[in-house]
Amino acid sequence: MSDTLFTKIVNREIPADIVYEDDEVLAFRDIAPKAPVHVLFIPKRAIATLNDLGEADVLLIGKLILAATRWAKAQGFADKGYRLVSNCNRDGGQTVFHIHVHLLAGRMLEWPPG
Ligand code: AMP
Repeated sequence: MSDTLFTKIVNREIPADIVYEDDEVLAFRDIAPKAPVHVLFIPKRAIATLNDLGEADVLLIGKLILAATRWAKAQGFADKGYRLVSNCNRDGGQTVFHIHVHLLAGRMLEWPPG
């Protein structure tokens, strides 16, 4: 299987504005931001969609969310608020098939989303 766009970012084959990295998680600024802060948290290991998650991924998903919430706190906007969202397949609006959590912050976000 060919590498996903995000695996290429993990491997530094294409550039990205990386804001956080550990052994299993990478975070970088979205190339088309939808809010003043728009960062994507991804597992380094490629998993295509949320539907492909299994028991073996439970810890990884926990680490992904925790990395995002810790980063939000470190940046100083956690108390004000932010949104984590993950899109799945066509109706969910997924365009890159390597799971990721969007962290959106820096403005009042609307609900429900479009
Ligand atoms: P989704 O539509 O939920 O799959 O989200 C994919 C996100 O990846 C979109 O918000 C895109 O703007 C973003 N994106 C696509 N290519 C890049 C890139 N090279 N660097 C950073 N973000 C990207």
